[in-house]
Amino acid sequence: MTSSAKPQTKIFSHGYDPQRSEGAAVPPVFRTSTFIFKTAAEGKRAFEIAYGLDAAKAGESPALIYTRVNNPNSEILEDKITAWDGAEAAALFSSGMGAISSACLAFLRPGDTLIFSDPVYGGTEFFFRRVLPQFNVRTIPFPAGATREDMERLVKDDPTVKLIYIESPANPTMLLSDVRGAREIADRYSSDDRRILVMVDNTFMGPIFSRPLDQGADVILYSATKFLGGHSDLVAGVAMGSAELVGQIKVMRTILGSNSDPDTAWLIQRSLGTLQLRMEHQQESAQRIAEFLRTHPKVQCVAYPGSPSMGARQVELWKTQCTGTGSLISFCVKGGEAEAFKVLDAVEHPKLAVSLGGIESLIEHPSTMTHSDMTPEEKAHAGITDNLIRMSVGLEDAQDLIDDLAQALDRI
Ligand SMILES: *Cc1c(COP(=O)(O)O)cnc(C)c1O
Repeated sequence: MTSSAKPQTKIFSHGYDPQRSEGAAVPPVFRTSTFIFKTAAEGKRAFEIAYGLDAAKAGESPALIYTRVNNPNSEILEDKITAWDGAEAAALFSSGMGAISSACLAFLRPGDTLIFSDPVYGGTEFFFRRVLPQFNVRTIPFPAGATREDMERLVKDDPTVKLIYIESPANPTMLLSDVRGAREIADRYSSDDRRILVMVDNTFMGPIFSRPLDQGADVILYSATKFLGGHSDLVAGVAMGSAELVGQIKVMRTILGSNSDPDTAWLIQRSLGTLQLRMEHQQESAQRIAEFLRTHPKVQCVAYPGSPSMGARQVELWKTQCTGTGSLISFCVKGGEAEAFKVLDAVEHPKLAVSLGGIESLIEHPSTMTHSDMTPEEKAHAGITDNLIRMSVGLEDAQDLIDDLAQALDRI
């Protein structure tokens, strides 16, 4: 395989050697919990590497041990999926939250501080605000889209900051945060005994329209439940980065048991072939829908990456950080919760459900659903209002979706 091949080409052969599977054109499912060592020495070596007692040597591929540690289907998927983001290594998890929590726990210690763009995904929010503090890890939000100066202020005078966590675009407000800026700050204040890492949740735009590793992120995270899986039929997560960092994350995964399973890995692997096609088509429809919403008399605001309504700074950031607009749209209807609920109950095609990135459109109310555990103050601060609706645009006919939204908005 030539290294110049595009991800869309590589995805069909990268990471899978048919000769190791009886010539099967697509990977079989290795539904087994444990693996037989050829010799005791081989087993010893495999454990040394899996527990991080020794690093694998260049070209060394350690024996498989046990499916909580590794499995051919997970490894095939992990190798394939690096093609999109240009990562050295990837780790597959049982969920996006499994990836996020395991990655954070791999690097944070009591007394450390994590700063994070606000808002973030509801589960991440809960983990940062309610769980990590119980382990004496401080977590401090900064507004999504904050300037470099504002981010720097939090890191400069606080030697305990070890992690800058960014979700970009932010769920559900679609605000982008400055990944290159975070990298610069992390480099400026890192020292021999203080390594500041930059982690980016790339679920909304990546890997097709956003590649944060290119902008200096150390680790990127995905809910593979969303676009990577793409069919709303599985729950999984991925962490990617250098082999060194992903190796440390995998040790944590083995011990927490946040690994995925062979069938799920297989399904994601199958979904990757159509990833670009799906995301591009969904984006095309989303652009038309955003345009329709922007001029609708019952719609107060539309949050869509790259759109002028996001403000000049956001548009500038979008130009340097993204290569597309994605297929998630948040919009405010005129009114409050009652008006938002009227629309949610009246639409026929988008399904009223949380989650996103699937081939079918989904629509939900962040304030009372995905972000309902936030306090009213936290919501106000993050811009999650009662009249806000989030829509994930799927593969239905775009005009059908527009006509449907039009009839639903007319109920207000
Ligand atoms: C869904 C989601 C998560 C959590 O992923 P799960 O697979 O549900 O655990 C994290 N971040 C973002 C941006 C998400 O949309």
